[in-house]
Amino acid sequence: MQGKDLCPLCGEGHLAHQLGSLLVDYKGQTAAIVSHFSVCDHCGSEQADAAQLRDNKRAMVAFKKQVDGFLTGAEVKAIREQLGITQAQAARVFGGGPVAFAKYEADDVTQSEAMDKLIRLSASSVDAFHILAEQVGLTA
Ligand SMILES: [Zn+2]
Repeated sequence: MQGKDLCPLCGEGHLAHQLGSLLVDYKGQTAAIVSHFSVCDHCGSEQADAAQLRDNKRAMVAFKKQVDGFLTGAEVKAIREQLGITQAQAARVFGGGPVAFAKYEADDVTQSEAMDKLIRLSASSVDAFHILAEQVGLTA
């Protein structure tokens, strides 16, 4: 999406992708998150397509994770890579379903409190991780 899309509102202008900063509030904490949207060079309307809305939602989910004390998607990914396992292997070891880690890491969903603790435990104790991995036949 490099701004070549025709504006669906006026049908004459073209949309240019913009990055803005959106002030959001969650549980009394305020933060500026990145906001994706497009502006029409003809009618000047601001709009967001499905992909932009998805990215905006992910930024909000990541902020909520921080406020709630959960690992963010980037942190989950860093730990998984540190453990040397794929997303599919992580799902086998920790549970959550085959696409769970793709969703956690993209900030599409927030992992449960139990899952969050399990991931943190494995990050701080290789022994704990190996016990879980052995249970599903995964050898390090
Ligand atoms: Zn327009």
